[in-house]
Amino acid sequence: MVKNNVSSAENLCENIRISKNGTLLFAGREAVEIIEKYGSPVFVFDEERVRENCRRYKTALREHFGADALPLYASKAASFKRIYEIIAEEGFGTDVVSSGEIYTAKLAGFPLERAYFHSNNKTDADIAYAIEEGVGCFVVDNVEELEVINAAALEKGKKQRVLLRLTPGIDPHTYAAVATGNVDSKFGSAIETGQAMKITGEALAMTGVELAGFHCHVGSQVFDADVFLKAADIMLRFIRDVKDEYGFECRELDLGGGFGVRYTDADPTLDVSEVIGQISERVKALSEKLGITLPKMRFEPGRSIVADACMTLYTVGTVKKIPGYKNYVSVDGGMTDNPRFALYGSKYTVALAKRMNDECDFKCSVVGRCCESGDILAEGVMLPSGIKRGDILAVFTTGAYNYSMSSNYNRVGRLPVVMIDKGGNDYVAVRRESLEDIARNDV
Ligand SMILES: *Cc1c(COP(=O)(O)O)cnc(C)c1O
Repeated sequence: MVKNNVSSAENLCENIRISKNGTLLFAGREAVEIIEKYGSPVFVFDEERVRENCRRYKTALREHFGADALPLYASKAASFKRIYEIIAEEGFGTDVVSSGEIYTAKLAGFPLERAYFHSNNKTDADIAYAIEEGVGCFVVDNVEELEVINAAALEKGKKQRVLLRLTPGIDPHTYAAVATGNVDSKFGSAIETGQAMKITGEALAMTGVELAGFHCHVGSQVFDADVFLKAADIMLRFIRDVKDEYGFECRELDLGGGFGVRYTDADPTLDVSEVIGQISERVKALSEKLGITLPKMRFEPGRSIVADACMTLYTVGTVKKIPGYKNYVSVDGGMTDNPRFALYGSKYTVALAKRMNDECDFKCSVVGRCCESGDILAEGVMLPSGIKRGDILAVFTTGAYNYSMSSNYNRVGRLPVVMIDKGGNDYVAVRRESLEDIARNDV
């Protein structure tokens, strides 16, 4: 069956359009102009889309939970200075998971009191650095870590505010590699096993930490509001149990991120306001029923803030036809700028930037330039026949977990990030890595 990828592309997000001449417009600009100006391959970010995505959460939280709810951008999705500046301007807090992310946020002037420090294994150096820099809240994974944070804070004469990361025991019906809320997860302390209650007691007894509340994050690319509702139920009941056990009133409840985005037109659209509204109804009703004070709510969207605000532009190289088997279209990037197919078998929508209206009758796999058979960007997709060396190929929805998962495998330099602002002006947010950059640490 001949499928026109192009109509799929235009359906993905409002920032993807097709000109009268059949060329790709992104954030109102000719895609081809950007790659001609900045070289290939390149990440192109739509700044206004990042802001719109932020505002969707801001507005929904204010409406449904009031002014003291705070959205946190899970910055592992895309971490560079400019992103921290934008989300700071949009009134977000942020999740950080390493000294590197804390440092980058600090360089951007991000107010670190609004930063939440995650990770299932914070090193001693990370912990010391984060306390030193005044990171507002630690999300503590386990008892051993809690002890180290307590000791480090006492040594510095500080009292560190913390949330405890709990595993509510939910399978979010998503890929195993991105599911984190089940009991046997490497993240957090399980409610079911009693470890969650135990770590709460320990935190309350410590003088170097101030327990603010609890956190859970059940997985990623979740479209089903039920997953969040179930998590909220379990967390609120735990909060009631904690109140009964220790007389502690939870002040902050963080239900994590994981809101789904559209990679292909087979993916549904998630209505953020509706989902937050449903969660709010549940949380308010159940809090009242259980006799607990409504905690301040936190959510941690990562992917859904940046994914559809970016596309990657590549130049086509080898087009290989293996008669009776398969066709390959190779591009000048690959798993070094987007390892998500290799990691999760992720799907993407692709198109040729100058042939957006052409019929897509050539079935092929778009592959990268690395020495790995798994170096695939999109498998079994349809592109216009006659695709050839020099064509510009766009991969959409690449804002999340692409730049931030980039590597120098095969000593390929990382791509630049070019931003397009509201006025349609382009500017560089991250420079392309040069050959000198690649060898800069070699002694
Ligand atoms: C990865 C992660 C997020 C963000 O998940 P998305 O799917 O990108 O929204 C939020 N919270 C925690 C703890 C995470 O590990």
